[in-house]
Amino acid sequence: MTHYIFITGGVVSSLGKGLSSASLASLLQGHGYKVTLRKLDPYLNIDPGTMNPTQHGEVFVTDDGAETDLDLGHYERFTAVSATKNDNITSGKIYQNIIQKERRGDYLGATVQVIPHVTDAIKKFITNNTEECDFVLCEIGGTVGDIEALPFFEAIRQLKYELDPYQSIFIHLTLLPFIAASGELKTKPTQHSVKELRSIGVQPDILLVRCDREVPLDERKKIALFCNVKESRVIQAIDTSNIYNVPILLHKEGLDREVLSAFNLDSQKKPNIDKWYKISENAKSLEDSVNIVIVGKYVQLQDAYKSLAEALYHGGLINKIKVNIKWLDSEVLENKDPSEYLLNAHAILVPGGFGKRGVEGKIKAINFARTKNIPFFGICFGMQMAVVEMARNLLYLENANSTEFGKTDEPVVDLMYEWTKDSKIEKRVQDNDLGGTMRLGAYNACLAIGSKVEKIYKKEVISERHRHRFEVNSKYCDQFKKVGVSFSGMSPDNKLPEIVEINDHPWFIGVQYHPELKSRPFDPHPLFVSFVLAALEQSRLV
Ligand code: GLN
Repeated sequence: MTHYIFITGGVVSSLGKGLSSASLASLLQGHGYKVTLRKLDPYLNIDPGTMNPTQHGEVFVTDDGAETDLDLGHYERFTAVSATKNDNITSGKIYQNIIQKERRGDYLGATVQVIPHVTDAIKKFITNNTEECDFVLCEIGGTVGDIEALPFFEAIRQLKYELDPYQSIFIHLTLLPFIAASGELKTKPTQHSVKELRSIGVQPDILLVRCDREVPLDERKKIALFCNVKESRVIQAIDTSNIYNVPILLHKEGLDREVLSAFNLDSQKKPNIDKWYKISENAKSLEDSVNIVIVGKYVQLQDAYKSLAEALYHGGLINKIKVNIKWLDSEVLENKDPSEYLLNAHAILVPGGFGKRGVEGKIKAINFARTKNIPFFGICFGMQMAVVEMARNLLYLENANSTEFGKTDEPVVDLMYEWTKDSKIEKRVQDNDLGGTMRLGAYNACLAIGSKVEKIYKKEVISERHRHRFEVNSKYCDQFKKVGVSFSGMSPDNKLPEIVEINDHPWFIGVQYHPELKSRPFDPHPLFVSFVLAALEQSRLV
């Protein structure tokens, strides 16, 4: 039987619902269950693809090409289950489908309403294709009380009554603030949040209370009494400096035991979570450290680069190297001498991005890394800008640029109107919408034998996730080859450059895809492992 766990949040946002859900899923895996995680986002965008990364954070791309919420990244990193487009939905998408159906006349003259049409669509999304899973963990974005989230709460309320008695539970995550003046943890916000939840018919089975210190027994009793939840099911989620400690912490607090007992399943067995103990052991015994500078333009919100920061952490962890990330706004470099900011960098990374702002600063950073032999990693936009930099300074094509910023005589990065996916031609039209029209999802690339990347991947064919509109123009490949720049990864039809590397440089690699999306703490991405090791080498030179 498939069991459903609905995770909601209250009091404030950003309490770590995504991480708690991912951690619980991984504990259930430790008990031998097959899990899947889904995220319901109440906002009206069709997906986060067109949202500003400084507001919404990173867009996480799945293998099947969906642009999704960054929580799906946590889900993948904690459970190693690859997410799909069936795992994230927004109100916008639900309404879009319903309105299309209404226009087609599918409702046969009925008045289309939130209940039952919207709620039915939400329930269908939650339960679709879940037969193979033991547990579906379904997180509702935002906090209880948000206007646009109401249909989602109503849908899970209905589901609870439609499913068998022990087939679904509600977990509510709240905050227990510590008031310094009185020296107390306050339970009132939690009480109010649960009251709000109960007023729409949802009684939580388990309360996860986020706090910065131990919750005294008396406070737990009070929460249990006022919120109508068993005392053992008021579970503290204490702040921790390392997100990968969360599964162990929640296990110690009895979360998996209480969840299983709420489902009337065997809750006494110990889960196999050795891998988490190992991660946490490694994290405590980091021996070396490296300074990596990330030159981007969304650096004011680090969630904009969530997977990237995690992938660098994973890349270091396996060799017990602490990676210190310094975030540098590329615009700062535009009128400055880069050595002022980059001199102590053991490695430089230019991540993905869109638009002209800050571009020349990125190009300066790339030039600095290339000419000073500092390890450099360019990801997507970072690779494209590396190609622009090298075209200008190695091929002496002064006007080399990407057509993303307008017309140019030397379009070394250009819009592609056609490409192949699974032997089918995909096309772009001139006035495409912005949303959902990039080259998205997993594509294969073939690696040149003997290249640096082939040695790093130890494979000749790789599959990586893409999210971009522009491509390096293969017309220039031969010219680059003559100056020692190789396109060591190409699309299988040999048309699209996927990887660029400099033969005579300690570590200079640009990739058109987003390798950070596939890195996991137990299975770090080889490019990040190699890049961090190159940074370590560099740290020994300076
Ligand atoms: N802006 C570039 C493009 O659309 C790169 C995108 C990215 O870095 N994800 O091709």
